[in-house]
Amino acid sequence: MKITVFGTGYVGLVTGACLADVGHSVVCVDIDEDKIARLRRGEIPIYEPGLESMVLRNVEAERLAFTTDAAQAVRHGVLQFIAVGTPPDEDGSADLQYVLAVAATIGHHMEEYKVVVDKSTVPVGTADRVQERISGVLAERGVELAFDVCSNPEFLKEGSALEDFTRGARIVVGSAAARVDELMRECYAPYNRNHEKMMFMSVRAAELTKYAANAMLATKISFMNEIANLAERLGADIEDVRRGIGSDPRIGYHFIYPGCGYGGSCFPKDVQALSRTAAKVGYNAELLEAVEAVNRRQKTTLFDKLSAAFGGDLQGKTIALWGLAFKPETDDMRDAPSRTLMESLWSSGAVVQAYDPEAMRECRRIYGERDDLILVADRVQAVRKADALVICTEWKEFRTLDAAWIRDQLRHPVVVDGRNLYEPEVMRAAGIDYYAVGRGKTL
Ligand code: NAD
Repeated sequence: MKITVFGTGYVGLVTGACLADVGHSVVCVDIDEDKIARLRRGEIPIYEPGLESMVLRNVEAERLAFTTDAAQAVRHGVLQFIAVGTPPDEDGSADLQYVLAVAATIGHHMEEYKVVVDKSTVPVGTADRVQERISGVLAERGVELAFDVCSNPEFLKEGSALEDFTRGARIVVGSAAARVDELMRECYAPYNRNHEKMMFMSVRAAELTKYAANAMLATKISFMNEIANLAERLGADIEDVRRGIGSDPRIGYHFIYPGCGYGGSCFPKDVQALSRTAAKVGYNAELLEAVEAVNRRQKTTLFDKLSAAFGGDLQGKTIALWGLAFKPETDDMRDAPSRTLMESLWSSGAVVQAYDPEAMRECRRIYGERDDLILVADRVQAVRKADALVICTEWKEFRTLDAAWIRDQLRHPVVVDGRNLYEPEVMRAAGIDYYAVGRGKTL
């Protein structure tokens, strides 16, 4: 099948590569010339395990190509995937300018029937707006061409994107036309062989499904953070509570880890956007507002704990930071808790000495060269001559720690663990002032 994918970010590139990998002929198009030039040289602009070899082998087999030529890209595919960004607008609503720009581009260049597939996360009703935009452009051109718009939200997670795309739990398609369902079935057939995981529904239900899924997951995190904050103040260990509730199959163990707040490119903006969608239809989404508020507060707890440990004075202190990415196995720092922490540290006159296995380049890109940001090559160098250590991301290589060694490295034996990686008794027995999440020792 011939397929076009607009956008070569986390979602577009993974979608393009995975669809090429099962034999489809895929053209990926982006307006970012530098990104396309790099992809053409065989460089993968993002870190995603397994992606590089998949892209290279499909380019080699001439099933996957990259271009900035939108006209050529539109001509190519019967399916036109839109996988461009939908960042938050000023008021938190999803900004649809990139999605609608692609719709206009498709309208300008199409010469025959196309199915336009909204893969970006877009508010309910967006497919109608995409439809209108394309119809408007076709009318300006004075041509009449048939096309359909469907919704096919993406549920992949950065860090395991290939696994999620190829072995995900479901493939949701929202459409109103049987011929669309047939083409989408053909597209995904190779990934739908083991058991039926395609779910067909209305366009609006599909659009809402994506937001509901992310809002549910964000709710679980904020709920656990709320209970962890309570546990801290009530003298209970949240790890006991987590095991205690997770054992109930109605609750389950997945996604109930307390921490320093959720980040990334999806949960924060999607929860916000759903709240704003609710407001637009006259509904006050109180639960969603609370999920957001709890998360905002949670992101400040690392700094609060650290600051309290130093009597409120961090001026001139050097703080070691392990982990910059919003979660392991990605270089993505969008809305990462590390950013809230670093920015607060800088405001209070501290220097950050940080290490992350993948996100260093991204950190430099965001913050540039500055005297109070030292990026070092490994976790050992990060703690050298530092006053305290904070863990923001649960990368595997941070999961073990020699308590006596870390105590001897730090000028002050203070460790603030935003991911509950270590045992409080072991750390405290080694003489470390250890602050985890919901594991005793409140401020
Ligand atoms: P991204 O920012 O990594 O990539 C978007 C790409 O689109 C960029 O390369 C940009 O240059 C390109 N682009 C913008 N306008 C364009 C145009 N007119 N034509 C062609 N390309 C254009 O974004 P992402 O993380 O891949 O997210 C894309 C969408 O998928 C968003 O709606 C997001 O919410 C959703 N989503 C993301 C994830 C995730 O984990 N990142 C998971 C599921 C869904």
